[in-house]
Amino acid sequence: NRMKVAIDGPAGAGKSTVAKIVAERLGLLYIDTGAMYRAVALKAIQAGIDLSDQESLTRLAADLDIRLNPDGRQLRVVVNNQDVTDQIRSQQVTESVSQIATIPGVRAQLVKIQRRIAQTQGVVMDGRDIGTQVLPNAEVKIFLTASLQERAERRMQELAAKGEPVNLEELKNSIAKRDARDSQREFSPLCKAEDAHVIDSTSLSVSQVAEQIVELCKAHIGT
Ligand code: C5P
Repeated sequence: NRMKVAIDGPAGAGKSTVAKIVAERLGLLYIDTGAMYRAVALKAIQAGIDLSDQESLTRLAADLDIRLNPDGRQLRVVVNNQDVTDQIRSQQVTESVSQIATIPGVRAQLVKIQRRIAQTQGVVMDGRDIGTQVLPNAEVKIFLTASLQERAERRMQELAAKGEPVNLEELKNSIAKRDARDSQREFSPLCKAEDAHVIDSTSLSVSQVAEQIVELCKAHIGT
């Protein structure tokens, strides 16, 4: 099954949760492209590279060995043989990543890896530019959204479950800021592909959203 499913949308819309389920249901590989941008951001912070130094960041992205290793239902993110799965979710990385993601050279490196993975196998890939840039020929494209309030509330619950209480208004500001940077960048911004199906998950459960996507994929297989 070489089917390609692209899931794009703003931060916190539930893309990765849903993409994992859809991948499992259809026997496809799940690829989290945000994790790759996060890996570059983490390494840049660790190396003390200035986030506006485009040349050094592009070189860093080219030199890193970034792997997404399936581990049961999850993906382990391994960079230069070091498991950074948890570290790339830190607040510092989350706040820096969208700045690094504006750099065309960094994007070109990561897009190359993403396309290479999808060349040899069927995938469910989530990100911001999958339907428009990375896999413009994907059989099924989804643009998954939810209200800012809903996305922030979901994220707050996740953090609370991990014992990290945060302020809802601060969370809303930080998500909105990342969305603005991602949609306003010049090169490959976050946007809906013309042929994408829009799903607003504000009042839908995870399984309802996953079900809708699986049905769209099955309808495609059936045609
Ligand atoms: O999906 P996630 O929120 O982990 O992505 C982190 C950041 O990586 C996004 O805010 C965006 O700046 C960048 N990104 C991107 N293009 C992608 C995936 C992620 O620019 N395809």
